[in-house]
Amino acid sequence: MDYEAVIGLETHVQLKTRSKMWCGCPNQYGAPPNTHVCPVCLALPGVLPVANEEALRLTLRTGLLLQCEIPARAKFDRKNYFYPDAPKNYQLTQYDQPSTRNGHVEFEFNGTLSRVRITRAHLEEDVGKSTHFERHSGVDFNRAGVPLLEIVTEPDLTSADQTHAYLNALKEILQYGGISDCDMEKGMVRCDVNVSVRPCGTQALGAKIEIKNMNSFSGVRRALEYEIPRQIAAVRRGEKLVQSTRRWDDVAGVTEEMRSKENAHDYRYLPEPDLMPFEPAQDWLDNERASLMELPLARKQRLMREYQLPAGDAEVLKNNRALGDYYEPIARLSKNPKLLANWIINNLQARLVEIMEKEKTEQASLGLEPDEMKFTGLADLKFKPSDLLDLVEMVARGALSSASGQTVLAEMVASGKAPSAIVQSMGLAQVSDAGAIETLCDQAIAQNPNPVADYKAGKEAALNALKGQVMKLSRGKANPAMVGEILQRKLRG
Ligand code: ADP
Ligand code: MG
Ligand code: ZN
Repeated sequence: MDYEAVIGLETHVQLKTRSKMWCGCPNQYGAPPNTHVCPVCLALPGVLPVANEEALRLTLRTGLLLQCEIPARAKFDRKNYFYPDAPKNYQLTQYDQPSTRNGHVEFEFNGTLSRVRITRAHLEEDVGKSTHFERHSGVDFNRAGVPLLEIVTEPDLTSADQTHAYLNALKEILQYGGISDCDMEKGMVRCDVNVSVRPCGTQALGAKIEIKNMNSFSGVRRALEYEIPRQIAAVRRGEKLVQSTRRWDDVAGVTEEMRSKENAHDYRYLPEPDLMPFEPAQDWLDNERASLMELPLARKQRLMREYQLPAGDAEVLKNNRALGDYYEPIARLSKNPKLLANWIINNLQARLVEIMEKEKTEQASLGLEPDEMKFTGLADLKFKPSDLLDLVEMVARGALSSASGQTVLAEMVASGKAPSAIVQSMGLAQVSDAGAIETLCDQAIAQNPNPVADYKAGKEAALNALKGQVMKLSRGKANPAMVGEILQRKLRG
């Protein structure tokens, strides 16, 4: 019998706010332990929480980006458990009335579109971080009370690779939307992976195994690549799987059982009495909706449709949002948007990398560490986007050869001068005057009887030698396409 995997994810994402969820402590990574703490996030007696408005806004925004419903009323609940990293002995979360629910994410996978339903995305708070030393343990509460969004999917995923693709798509949406930096190294995205197996073609769900607290997408994929065959082998042997929680051992490359799974009622969820229910005002929601950006996938599809870009180019401009934002306003004015994309992706990007490398060396020589370095990007280019448009249009209409175009671009980067001025001062204008090119062709034909004879005898390649001669006579400025055409016409005639 064949088995299939059923996978659902619970992804925790750190919201990009300046302060924590219930107090004014900074939401900032990397500070010495217990320096971003106060009576509220340490849960000293008598303190009360005050909700962070920006976190509420980002939650709604995420809901909209994930096509969720936004209920008129949401509330906060206490999830009770004892653990040294939870100073209140409960975690504030949203249990039965989350801020957003019933959405979906669409993403490309295996050449088609996958759609995963989003059960809910709710707001909660992070807890502290325990560290175990040789003879004692310590808790750092800097992260306690940092706002998290928990994004829960329906069990719609079916493979390790598809799950990986979903996570990347989710991350991209959240980064596009300014919801979270999703910096994995800083632990900003963590997920619990739920997976079961069932005979292909059946509907009932198998026992859910939850792999807890994964902090890398490649780890999620590897864990599933291990766990799915493990479960299938077990049921094939006739074992009955039970709902349980496992841990991924990244070094050994295996999952191992931690505990049989607790149930929701074990947490004694109860409504938080110190916070009002959250009822987002309609104009607030309307504002958010109006300011939403286009989703990355929609942008890619539109770039392909509106500018006839190949999927690969549209993908690059989608992945690099700044580059896409640079491209679009000038693409709208361009007669050759495909060529323009090409120039931005291949030539302009290469120049930007050079600039960055140079800045890096300069800053390193000033003694700056990598995390203190600042790089200028597109916004700091000395020339206007419309100058690049002009350059590409010149190349497209044959006024400038592609190779000379590169020279002009380098000069634009260096001096910020307009391309037409550079073409003039460097004498790079391409000769597209048919009369002038004919004269050069006649000259080349007269001076090179051997290739002429070869071509007439049927050796097509001999044309290139003649073309080379004409280009030489023109000092590289003749329009190569015209040279080819005129030579052919003259030799055939
Ligand atoms: P819990 O109450 O234990 O957190 P939920 O029903 O809320 O369980 O589901 C948590 C996650 O597990 C969701 O992403 C859901 O899609 C997924 N899930 C639920 N049942 C299964 C199953 N049998 N196999 C795989 N994933 C599942
Ligand atoms: Mg759950
Ligand atoms: Zn605090």
